[in-house]
Amino acid sequence: MIERAGGPAVRIPAGRLLIGGAWCEAIDGRTIAVYDPATEEKIADIAVASAADVGRAVEAAHRTFESRVWQKLRPLDRGRLLERLALLVERDAEELARLETLDNGKPFAVSRNVDMKFAMDALRYYGGWSSKISGEYIALSPFFDDGGTYRAYTERKPVGVVGGITPWNFPMGQAIQKIAPAIAFGCTIVLKPSEEASLTTLRLGELILEAGFPEGAVNIVTGYGHEAGQALVDHPLVRKIAFTGSTATGQKILESSARQMKRVTLELGGKSPAIVLADADLNRAIPGAANAIFPNSGQVCTAGSRLFVEASIYDEVARGVAEIARNLRLGSGFDPVNELGPLISARQLERVSSLVSSGVEEGAQPLCGAGRAAGKGYFFQPTVLSGARADMRIAREEVFGPVVLAMPFTDLRTIKALANDTVYGLGASIWTRDLNKAHLLADQIDAGTVWINTHNILDTAMPFGGTKMSGLGREFGSEVIHAYTEPRAVCMRLDGAGLA
Ligand code: NAD
Repeated sequence: MIERAGGPAVRIPAGRLLIGGAWCEAIDGRTIAVYDPATEEKIADIAVASAADVGRAVEAAHRTFESRVWQKLRPLDRGRLLERLALLVERDAEELARLETLDNGKPFAVSRNVDMKFAMDALRYYGGWSSKISGEYIALSPFFDDGGTYRAYTERKPVGVVGGITPWNFPMGQAIQKIAPAIAFGCTIVLKPSEEASLTTLRLGELILEAGFPEGAVNIVTGYGHEAGQALVDHPLVRKIAFTGSTATGQKILESSARQMKRVTLELGGKSPAIVLADADLNRAIPGAANAIFPNSGQVCTAGSRLFVEASIYDEVARGVAEIARNLRLGSGFDPVNELGPLISARQLERVSSLVSSGVEEGAQPLCGAGRAAGKGYFFQPTVLSGARADMRIAREEVFGPVVLAMPFTDLRTIKALANDTVYGLGASIWTRDLNKAHLLADQIDAGTVWINTHNILDTAMPFGGTKMSGLGREFGSEVIHAYTEPRAVCMRLDGAGLA
């Protein structure tokens, strides 16, 4: 239990590694210390899974996948497992949200109303999919006539054991985002959460046992990416890697996966533009642009980190966003007055600080923020930089912090080039009252999601993912079936003798 002044204590899950339906220690007993990013105090230890531990987990997942129990489980009953888990998450949502806030730092209201809500929605959404999996009948045109009649159909078969690897910015939601589709489509899974924020995934493991999932259907291994994550990617019994994290790690995973031709989905980084046209409703666009970047302290893959504003309204928009940023309250996620929590770690704080310093050294001017906040915790002030150029390091690299570059444009015909001048292609938003312009511009933007007069709206029913260096494949929506199943064509010859 972690006691906190003025609030309920937070229970730290006791379990270490969840393998084959039971909690166990890592073989060599190593642990990683976990810190509260708001106070820098140690709150827990998690196990460091070695390649041998990962091997045990993958073998358990494989045994379950091949078992009669799993193969015979009705699709509707896989859906029921996910629904039971959703009910348990709902029952414990407050406790889970407190744990997320302690481990990740985000405000409790966000943990409760965004992260846990998303987790329940996703469990239910994918639970519904389990009984909607279907193939197709195919009309064949045989090029010879041997007297037979040919029929063909396809089935969607689960890929097998999935290795899920998740980041720290939405730990619980990301864990569900891997577990729920894997189970819905009949796969089993070994999940490795981020070493920076594993606690809610471990608590989720307790709820998975309580929900009565077959042993080994979901396994959880905590530890380092280069060790446990890499072991998962390299294990020959893992048939698919579902990864969310940085582009650099995604590239390594893609290279390693090629050796065994593993299926991969990669949800990676972004440098998403928010584009405000002169005719936009500024009462919506200014708070909308602020809301595109600052929530979760900017640690959102689709954060609107490049703000392009038509020159005639540039000052009003840039100053308006800066004014909102200045008034955001930073502090402990457990104090309801605070709107922004800390960054996840000292390392992330160092990265954001150094990128902002590089931008200022290269000539960008801070309209607000641009430094870490005083006192304990990894807090960085919400920052708006004006005068940035596209060739600056800060304009090219993902910051993953509460930092936005405001840049004016004068000609609508340049928007396509400005918005797409990045290696990433995850999200974008366009703010205008003119729907003709909105749709025509949306056509020009090379990104997985384009929002119009909003930003960062995600829905499990809407496909999500990136183009270019933002990833490969899609999660959510009907597209997800391709990520967790393989089509199998069955072709048969029917003998018509006696019937013709
Ligand atoms: P990261 O790449 O450092 O780590 C992500 C996960 O990969 C962690 O669990 C880590 O342990 C593991 N890992 C690291 N090296 C590995 C290796 N060699 N093999 C296998 N696994 C390895 O990312 P992060 O810092 O945790 O998360 C932030 C990044 O995630 C940002 O770039 C952000 O844009 C991205 N992200 C993308 C999405 C999306 O849906 N597109 C969502 C959230 C975050």
